Amino acid sequence: MTTTLITGANKGLGREAARQLIAAGHTVYVGSRDFDRGEATVAEIGGIPLQIDVTSDESVRAAAKRIESEVGHLDVLVNNAGIAGGFSSVTDVTADDVATVYATNVFGVVRVTQAFVPLLERSEAPVIVNVSSGMGSFAVTLDPSRFESTLVGLAYPSSKAAVNMLTSMYAKGMPNIRVNAVDPGYTATDLNGHRGTQTVEEGVRAIVAMAQIASEGPTGSFVDAVGTVAW
Ligand code: NAP
Repeated sequence: MTTTLITGANKGLGREAARQLIAAGHTVYVGSRDFDRGEATVAEIGGIPLQIDVTSDESVRAAAKRIESEVGHLDVLVNNAGIAGGFSSVTDVTADDVATVYATNVFGVVRVTQAFVPLLERSEAPVIVNVSSGMGSFAVTLDPSRFESTLVGLAYPSSKAAVNMLTSMYAKGMPNIRVNAVDPGYTATDLNGHRGTQTVEEGVRAIVAMAQIASEGPTGSFVDAVGTVAW
């Protein structure tokens, strides 16, 4: 039995990843910062609702304690919770605007990872999937053939670039845990006012695949649904 936690799983890509991993046989803790939204999602897709606000030490600690008492370990952590924070003109963006996005997208990943590593270390085949973005890739955002190169923003792209480096460093620093970053691709969710061109079923392919890698699978990689993404 594989026990999996997905943060921000009450809607969007996290919800669909939870639905597919439940169908694949995982016991999924459906993370939601709002308890009622988590309960409503679980009523529709199954899984176990877990209140977890990635910006709160108290909430994250309580979530880890609960999984420790109920299961004793964690096999798969999907750091999915994220916010876009708006794409204003770069000269209008304040340090506070950037800090708000980093609080969820970057510091949230560190907070949740640090809290759950002791439980992951008790798994026979621990896995972390960090949900990054093509917007966090220098190569993708500088490639004129890619849609991502047309978007200009400070907070979100730099937050996802930080997630990529966190992934690489966690992978090097924790050789017993397979830690990978994924780019879902531009997917219609609340994050982008449903302007994304993929469905959530298409968007979760890399998340779901990397949540199910075998114990000899990759670590320190950045992938999308079709293969390696250049950093
Ligand atoms: P979404 O539909 O807006 O879902 C975001 C999820 O994150 C929601 O469940 C939200 O909860 C949760 N969340 C936000 N702040 C949180 C916090 N402090 N603590 C816990 N949960 C929090 O967006 P999405 O598109 O599915 O995004 C999921 C991930 O994919 C994000 O990391 C995003 O950057 C990444 N991504 C998305 C796309 C895309 O095109 N959609 C492309 C590349 C990467 P609430 O419902 O409470 O707000």
